[in-house]
Amino acid sequence: MKLNDADDVFTSVGRRRFVAGLGASAISMAARPLAAADSPAFGGIPYSSNASGRKWYKGNTHMHTIRSDGDTFPIEAAALFKRAGYHFTCFSDHNVSSSEPQKPIPVDSYKGKKISQEMRTNFGRDFPGLELCRTVQDDKGRECYISASIEEIAMLLDEPGRFLTIGGNEVSAAPTAGKELHCNFINYSKPCRANNKRTVEECLDWIRDEYSRNISDARTSIMTLNHPLWVSYDVQPHIVAERPDIRFFEVCNSGSMPRFNLPGMEFTHDKWWDVVNTMRAIKGQPLIYGLASDDIHGYNPMRKKTKRKAGYVQVLANELTIPGIIEAFQRGDFYASTGLNLASVHFDRATRTLSVEVDPSFGDDCRIEFIGSKKGVDTSVQEIVKWEIEGKPNKWLESRHFSMHRTVERYSDKIGSVFKTVKGRTASYTMLPDDLYVRAKVACPHNAYTNNREPDFPIAWTQPISAKDML
Ligand SMILES: [Zn+2]
Ligand SMILES: [Zn+2]
Repeated sequence: MKLNDADDVFTSVGRRRFVAGLGASAISMAARPLAAADSPAFGGIPYSSNASGRKWYKGNTHMHTIRSDGDTFPIEAAALFKRAGYHFTCFSDHNVSSSEPQKPIPVDSYKGKKISQEMRTNFGRDFPGLELCRTVQDDKGRECYISASIEEIAMLLDEPGRFLTIGGNEVSAAPTAGKELHCNFINYSKPCRANNKRTVEECLDWIRDEYSRNISDARTSIMTLNHPLWVSYDVQPHIVAERPDIRFFEVCNSGSMPRFNLPGMEFTHDKWWDVVNTMRAIKGQPLIYGLASDDIHGYNPMRKKTKRKAGYVQVLANELTIPGIIEAFQRGDFYASTGLNLASVHFDRATRTLSVEVDPSFGDDCRIEFIGSKKGVDTSVQEIVKWEIEGKPNKWLESRHFSMHRTVERYSDKIGSVFKTVKGRTASYTMLPDDLYVRAKVACPHNAYTNNREPDFPIAWTQPISAKDML
């Protein structure tokens, strides 16, 4: 998501709602050719390979800096994650790859004025030996700030086994109807600026094709679909179900939630995930894995060392290197979290059993759910909800000549059923012959989940295990 839109209140004018019971035939289900999904870079069953010698590494895959709409330089952004105990973090500014040369920021410009001497002094005090930015003259003779390059930052901050910085780009497109479509290219160095097409499908295909065309090796990079329900239910699950080469999405993005919680459009990221995976599992296609990310833009809470309740991933990797982390993502050996850590997660292929153990520091007051869909589940669209909103409902959208049209398909409650619930710190589930897939979701303590911006309590989501992979 983008900065400065967090507190706007929805006060729309001229809105209408249409509800009609339509079948799946109303939705385009055209299959897309497989690309990276068939790549040998992906494969195996999450949590099933030999984990000896592997370690869990905590990471953030999504953050912004002054190179787009974040409020500090890349070196401080990364240094704050290192100080907070993360093992890795990825730069993901909008439409700029972190290895592109940074343009100098004139001191008198809008962004330059936001950089105070106090910020520079405080950074030097908190991180001795590092400087927030340097001062240079640009070709017009103006005094400017300039950031350290990503290579310089890696040399200053990366430490073997302790911390790793990864370059990237949040390619951010704006299809029609006030929609947004953002994808992270992780460990990606070529320039890529979104080409705004008309529809979400066109934008997604353009972004996906651009990514595939420019990566040199599918084994060293991943692409994630970010916050699919932001701005408001913008990326419908069937669109992603039809593109099985999209292997990662954000099941939790701490910087976004659906801005407009429109009546009749209650659709959680968990439900979105289960719809995509159910449709794919029926076709024997690869499932989509879920990440939680921070998507931080404003760094004051981290500067003050306050505990930040934000999404992250724990990755079970052979080593803390870019190939080590990327390979673990591609194996599905990671889980998404908003604060809850697992001591172990394991899938036993012989018995088809998924076992989860919560870190003992969280106590026994945990709820572990095993969630999935059964063969033969009804995947037809139960209801289509349409909204048309015109007007200028809030400050952020005024600048965007706001006009919003949304179509949300609703699906059977049997998609993403809870197969089993266990109260306690450990649990396991043995897959039944009619299970399409299963995943675990752990909450501690077991309260109601309110939203994905600032969860009131920690959650961890394991990746789904597909029955097809055991054939
Ligand atoms: Zn972002
Ligand atoms: Zn975004």
